Amino acid sequence: MKKPHKEVIIVGAGLAGLSCARRLMKDDIPFLILEADQRIGGRIKTDRCNGFILNHGFQVLQTAYPEARRLLDYERLALRPFAAGAIIYIDGNFHRIADPWRHPQALWHTLTAPIGTLTDRLRIIRLVMSVRRGSHARIFQNQDRSTMEFLRSCGFSETMIQRFIKPFFAGVCLDPDIETSSRVFRYVFRIFAEGAVALPGEGMAAIVDQLRNDLPPDRIRTGNRVASVHPEGVVMETGEHLNGGAVVLATEGPETARLLGATEAVGSRGEWCLYFAAKEPPITEPYLVLNGDGSGWVNSLTVPSIVAPSYAPAGQHLISVVVIGHGSADDATVEATVRGELSDWFGRGVSQWRHLETYRIGHALPEQNPPVPDPTIRPAEIRPGIYVCGEYGSVPGIQWALLSGRQTAEEVLKMMNSNR
Ligand SMILES: Cc1cc2nc3c(=O)[nH]c(=O)nc-3n(C[C@H](O)[C@H](O)[C@H](O)COP(=O)(O)OP(=O)(O)OC[C@H]3O[C@@H](n4cnc5c(N)ncnc54)[C@H](O)[C@@H]3O)c2cc1C
Repeated sequence: MKKPHKEVIIVGAGLAGLSCARRLMKDDIPFLILEADQRIGGRIKTDRCNGFILNHGFQVLQTAYPEARRLLDYERLALRPFAAGAIIYIDGNFHRIADPWRHPQALWHTLTAPIGTLTDRLRIIRLVMSVRRGSHARIFQNQDRSTMEFLRSCGFSETMIQRFIKPFFAGVCLDPDIETSSRVFRYVFRIFAEGAVALPGEGMAAIVDQLRNDLPPDRIRTGNRVASVHPEGVVMETGEHLNGGAVVLATEGPETARLLGATEAVGSRGEWCLYFAAKEPPITEPYLVLNGDGSGWVNSLTVPSIVAPSYAPAGQHLISVVVIGHGSADDATVEATVRGELSDWFGRGVSQWRHLETYRIGHALPEQNPPVPDPTIRPAEIRPGIYVCGEYGSVPGIQWALLSGRQTAEEVLKMMNSNR
């Protein structure tokens, strides 16, 4: 008779941990998720505040992510897309640029916006065609260098880089100098070209709700922080010892490094996200507004309630503002600075906006300096009996968290089946 499998201990109930658990459950492998926080979902969190839906930071779902498509029911998420483009604030004026295939009506504005030359636009088209060729893995096999270096090598003008590409990509990788890996840049460019950027109607946490949906609730212990790990199990902060058939670390990069006792630290990229309520929205279309001036604190602004009306109560709008790379100023200073800048953008009405919340996220993403590894093929077993998924030694993002969770479960399954 076959021996019953020992429980797999999963540390962390973010997307990677939940995806790992779902795959184990499919093969009837017992598991226990230990989550330090009181709620599950990790960095994907949503608060509800007097009828407003507040995601923790500017988070969106890129619908072209293959693993998200596999695991999530997009229809039930009631996804609402942003326009495929941006409004760029430059020298006191707003300029709308958009993907001419998806928004042909914006073609004239796109061609005439002061963000570079006609050749720059042709280079963008060439870049889109190049990144869409071949598999996703191919992108991670290309030469890697900083995105800034890569853009210059492609021949983009400084105007195009500083006014459009830099504020856009700085907001994605939360790196104001875009020293981030060019592989990541090329991947992001591809994903934006292949699908929409969308908000779930009930907030980003709806993604987590779908993933946890059929997981047995007694297999997830929240408010349980793991202090250390060893090949047979974990030691909880309370001193309790738990043994299992394998341990899967599905924690943030810096915490995984700590638990593994790694000597190399994982650097963090953070953001501040400020939410305001207003009767009149500052823009009326579902675009991302970028700061193309190259100065100031504000990186970008969106009006989620224009994208998805459910984000604000009737008669009101929700405004989300992202600040990156500005150290340790206190909340009052951040709010005053942001209001001051946005008053230059949108006029005196900004003083009437009601501040709802400021989220200060220290570790939103890890640093992604070149070279980054290929996240489509990563070793999961780091030490005998200890497996790792999520961003540690890999690349962050919803796609990679979900995929690495599944792939790690599949390696654990292989090990368990070979031990029988
Ligand atoms: C503001 C913001 C915007 C983002 N925007 C996007 C985006 O637009 N598109 C995109 O693809 N990605 C985006 N991301 C990144 C994406 O959300 C993350 O890459 C992904 O959610 C990470 O999932 P994870 O499961 O690997 O890690 P996490 O979500 O960090 O989960 C790790 C879990 O482990 C728990 N944990 C940690 N230590 C312990 C311990 N010792 N014991 C027990 N539990 C522990 C934590 O509490 C947490 O719940 C964004 C992230 C942020 C914060």
